[in-house]
Amino acid sequence: MQNLTVLGSTGSIGTSTLDVVARHPGKFQIVALTANSQADLLFRQCVQFKPRYAVMLDEDAAMQLRERVRAAGLGIEVLSGAAALEQVCVLPETDTVMAAIVGAAGLRPTLAAARAGKKILLANKETLVMAGNVFMDAVRASGSVLLPIDSEHNAIFQTLPRGYDGDLAKNGVRRILLTASGGPFRNTPLEELQHVTPEQACAHPNWSMGRKISVDSASMMNKGLEVIEAHWLFNAGADDIQVVVHPQSVIHSLVEYVDGSVLAQLGNPDMRIPIAYGLAWPERIDSGVAPLDLFKVATMDFTAPDFGRFPCLALAYQALRAAGTAPAILNAANEAAVAAFLDSRISFLSIPHVIEAVLDALPVGKVGSLDDVLGADADARRMAQQHIGDLVGARRAVPLLRPNI
Ligand code: NAD
Ligand code: MG
Repeated sequence: MQNLTVLGSTGSIGTSTLDVVARHPGKFQIVALTANSQADLLFRQCVQFKPRYAVMLDEDAAMQLRERVRAAGLGIEVLSGAAALEQVCVLPETDTVMAAIVGAAGLRPTLAAARAGKKILLANKETLVMAGNVFMDAVRASGSVLLPIDSEHNAIFQTLPRGYDGDLAKNGVRRILLTASGGPFRNTPLEELQHVTPEQACAHPNWSMGRKISVDSASMMNKGLEVIEAHWLFNAGADDIQVVVHPQSVIHSLVEYVDGSVLAQLGNPDMRIPIAYGLAWPERIDSGVAPLDLFKVATMDFTAPDFGRFPCLALAYQALRAAGTAPAILNAANEAAVAAFLDSRISFLSIPHVIEAVLDALPVGKVGSLDDVLGADADARRMAQQHIGDLVGARRAVPLLRPNI
């Protein structure tokens, strides 16, 4: 029996995780479920999975949930606030933490799980983008088992040699090939990108995901964040990671070896595959995903990424090369810009402008501790809000950004 805390249980990854768990009665026990403010869904999950704890970040939502849990006689302790998210990650009875909160909010609880030596199923890529060295040091120091859930990184994990020790050359690896669907705007005429709406950006052709990561996929910032994520997970430099646009999303990523062999992991685009892999590793269990029908797939296409169309990808490579606090600055500016786009305050093309302005304005510092990361994050958010305010005030159209990479 594996005892699980699921951070972000009401989200896209969280609900997929509970779907896999429900398929294997007797294999997994839910210790804690957490969410931001969706009390209705968290209550239904409490009824079905009977955790010992339920956490709502939002106090009012927690009060509502507490009342309903009491009325239903479920005997679940309902906690609230950011500290409680960390608390349910470090409980002695928790073996495994599914880290599936979206954005920077996931950093502290995921880091707490790493420091406590828990097995971590990492969906929250922002943790690694913001605080890669702090987090990886904590994983190594505590002996945590870290399993990537992001589909590309899970594919790479599966295609690297078993027991890979962080040395690409010693393991005969030439390159990591990170696949990308290209998102909903891969072929949209450039002049139309200025006017695309949040709904269009969130309508991903292959994957069903939360709104923030959907916008990141549309701008290809998601792939940029994933390049940085791959850097920390596999100890690969920016030049060791090649992004490959593969619109069918059937190959989830590949590893190229020095002898010319290229190993890939394939499957239907459904996050329950990497989630089931992480839950059962090193064994395999049913994920509920239909078998891959290669005859139906029939063709697979591959193209190089278009950095002109997707400047966010170039900005992420720049931040990775700049190192230090640059990726945390990139991440914070992106979160602020994406939120403003989702609120229809700025245009889709303004997202890279905000990020570039913030990256240009703030000095890159060293990351020695979590405080360095949180300081850079706060500065970047403040500066991003200023730029967003300027853009909203001016209401001007921004041209396509073409950064050098
Ligand atoms: P989502 O928006 O669907 O769900 C987010 C979850 O986090 C919800 O349960 C929400 O209540 C909770 N949450 C939001 N803000 C919070 C806060 N401030 N404090 C505490 N909890 C909060 O997001 P998602 O698509 O499930 O993505 C989750 C993470 O997984 C992201 O980091 C994303 O990049 C990563 N990821 C997602 C997918 C996917 O297919 N959805 C694939 C790969 C990686
Ligand atoms: Mg991914």
